[in-house]
Amino acid sequence: MAKKPLKPSIILVSDRTLSGKYNILFEGIFATMQTTHTPELAMKMLVSPKMKSDADGRAWQAALGLRRIEASLIHELDLSEDDIVCTTPERLGDLLGDHVKLVMVSSSDPLGMGMSNTTTTCFWDGQLYTKVWTDKMMQQIKQAKDKFGFMVLAGGAGAWQWAHDKQTAENQGIDIVYEGYFETDGPKLVRNILNGKSPEAHYICNVCGVDKVRPIKSASLMGIVELSRGCGKGCRFCTMAKHRMEHVDTDTILSDIEINVANGVHSTVVGSEDFFRYGGKGYKPNFAALCGLLGEMRKIKGLDFAQIDHGNISTILQFTNDELKEIRRLMSLTNKTEYLWVNMGIESANGKLVEANSSGKIVPFEADNWYEMVLDVADKMITCGFFPVFSIVLGLPGETVADIELTKKLMGELVQKRCVIFPIFYEPVIADEVLTDTRFDINRMTQRHLDLYIMCYEQNFKNVPPMYWDNQRAGGVSWAKRALILALGKTEVAAWRKNFKRLRGQLPQEQ
Ligand code: SF4
Repeated sequence: MAKKPLKPSIILVSDRTLSGKYNILFEGIFATMQTTHTPELAMKMLVSPKMKSDADGRAWQAALGLRRIEASLIHELDLSEDDIVCTTPERLGDLLGDHVKLVMVSSSDPLGMGMSNTTTTCFWDGQLYTKVWTDKMMQQIKQAKDKFGFMVLAGGAGAWQWAHDKQTAENQGIDIVYEGYFETDGPKLVRNILNGKSPEAHYICNVCGVDKVRPIKSASLMGIVELSRGCGKGCRFCTMAKHRMEHVDTDTILSDIEINVANGVHSTVVGSEDFFRYGGKGYKPNFAALCGLLGEMRKIKGLDFAQIDHGNISTILQFTNDELKEIRRLMSLTNKTEYLWVNMGIESANGKLVEANSSGKIVPFEADNWYEMVLDVADKMITCGFFPVFSIVLGLPGETVADIELTKKLMGELVQKRCVIFPIFYEPVIADEVLTDTRFDINRMTQRHLDLYIMCYEQNFKNVPPMYWDNQRAGGVSWAKRALILALGKTEVAAWRKNFKRLRGQLPQEQ
């Protein structure tokens, strides 16, 4: 007898860039940076392949944020696993119907306003796939909503964009924009919706709520787990600026990894805004707590590969080289990598400018020493077996010609080292500032900025391909696919250089 179709009351879904099948973190990051300049076929076949789903439409892996919501609602609202389903954009149509009360959508960059992504669109034709695919999915949801009458709640890392552009949110059928972590206020809000109440159209939760985090029930995208939430270092271009860092307990982290491995995801990303601060108090790291967690993680059978995302320069510099080497050793699992990368924000070579735009980035050190600190951290990380991935911000409020020149000088020293550097255009995330349009784009770019940009990208053209190859190998990607991506990368490099050539001479020397 054929199985009855599932009739969930809550559906969770994210746009295709956050629902693709990625083996390593860099694949996921690259997918969110692509514009329609990349043909959609190449995107769907190679860059962001379709995620598998089961006969009921459940996604094999789903964005960690959705998995957290799923676990929280099952626990807090006493729902069954058939009442709530994490699905993929491709399977939405199979699940939408008059049984649905609420569709919850997540996107990291729904309107293409994210800082790293707006930088890409300044150089390329077309629109970001995060925006195009989110819009496509929202139109499908809106059509079904008009027919079946459910509510739509939108959240995720890019929720601030919907909050800012209310017209687009309305056009996409969104009833509620939810900003912040879910566990503290979200369940009550959802209960009210299920009971037929109409909540406010914009909801902000400023609490990290780590004490309410529930272990995930099924696999998270790329095996990402959370070590900590928030950051609190006060950078004006970051949504985590004011959320004080709180750490997820070790048992939950290990349980999340075990669930992933049991579901066939054998690698993990230990996600945090500052991996090296796990277990610490304030800005002070806790070597014993971090090593304790990593030691337990290593015992999980079937976990083959572990990746880091972000670290903070001022945290890393509080460790000795021996401590960093021990952390590196603990992060080395069955599948070895020569490129265990850590993304660290430099922002500018001028520490005073960084300090003016970030209350805590350099603490407990002095802003006057920032230039040397960056060089120290590069050497320290390379010596201890890590691969530095730096980022700088162009157009920080208050930036002067002297600042750009100083950053060029610093980058000139960094490009002698084994690292990559991503320049990003300043994009405000604070509501008032978004309205005053302090964002930096190609119209504000000078020749100096472009020279700096090109210097960083030439370094990346050299070092990103071997890093990508190495990570994909460790993440279990086939040789054939790696070779294809490498070939695609070569055409991208040629296109970037052509773009740079076109822009050279067109930009003013001074603004
Ligand atoms: S240090 Fe990084 S995560 Fe923390 S507020 Fe600044 S940019 Fe955000």
